[in-house]
Amino acid sequence: MPSLRSRDKTNQELPLPDEKVEVRRSPRRRRTVSAYRDGDTLVVMIPARMTRAEEKHWVAEMQRKLQRTESLPLPRSKTSDLTLLDRCAQLSSKYFDDSATPASVRWVAPMRTRWASCTPVDATIRVSRRLQEVPTWVLDYVLVHELAHLRVTPHNAEFWALVRRYPKAERAIGFLEGLSAAAGLEIEPAED
Ligand SMILES: [Zn+2]
Repeated sequence: MPSLRSRDKTNQELPLPDEKVEVRRSPRRRRTVSAYRDGDTLVVMIPARMTRAEEKHWVAEMQRKLQRTESLPLPRSKTSDLTLLDRCAQLSSKYFDDSATPASVRWVAPMRTRWASCTPVDATIRVSRRLQEVPTWVLDYVLVHELAHLRVTPHNAEFWALVRRYPKAERAIGFLEGLSAAAGLEIEPAED
């Protein structure tokens, strides 16, 4: 039985994210608890026999576990162009009804003023290798941004309405602005 309190590297208890949580109780489940994201809702599956207190504990446990995995960058084994193409397919299906399909997506050497770029004419997307170090939810924002360009080229209201379907868009833009400033880069997240 894992410890009841999850802690970060400095042994501080991680604050719980403020998000929609849906708990599904199943009579078929004996002990296992699992969770996944459905859009901006966290779905937690628990055994039907669990008490309210146990439910509360395991929901918090799953929130922290997902928070930890999502704050990690892509594992080395997953930094291939194929992984990018696959991630784009998942994001296009989740946020754009499979209507944004790139012909190719590839990692490229760091660009001076951009995190990524898209050429709508031939549906190609290039992603800076700098983004191999950021949490996956930030990389996903950049991919959603570039996929939205396959639907709308200019950064107009229609474009941003598409991008904001990704629930963490604002947070990711803030993260990238901070990263750009901290690293002394001249990258404007909204210019990609
Ligand atoms: Zn853009």
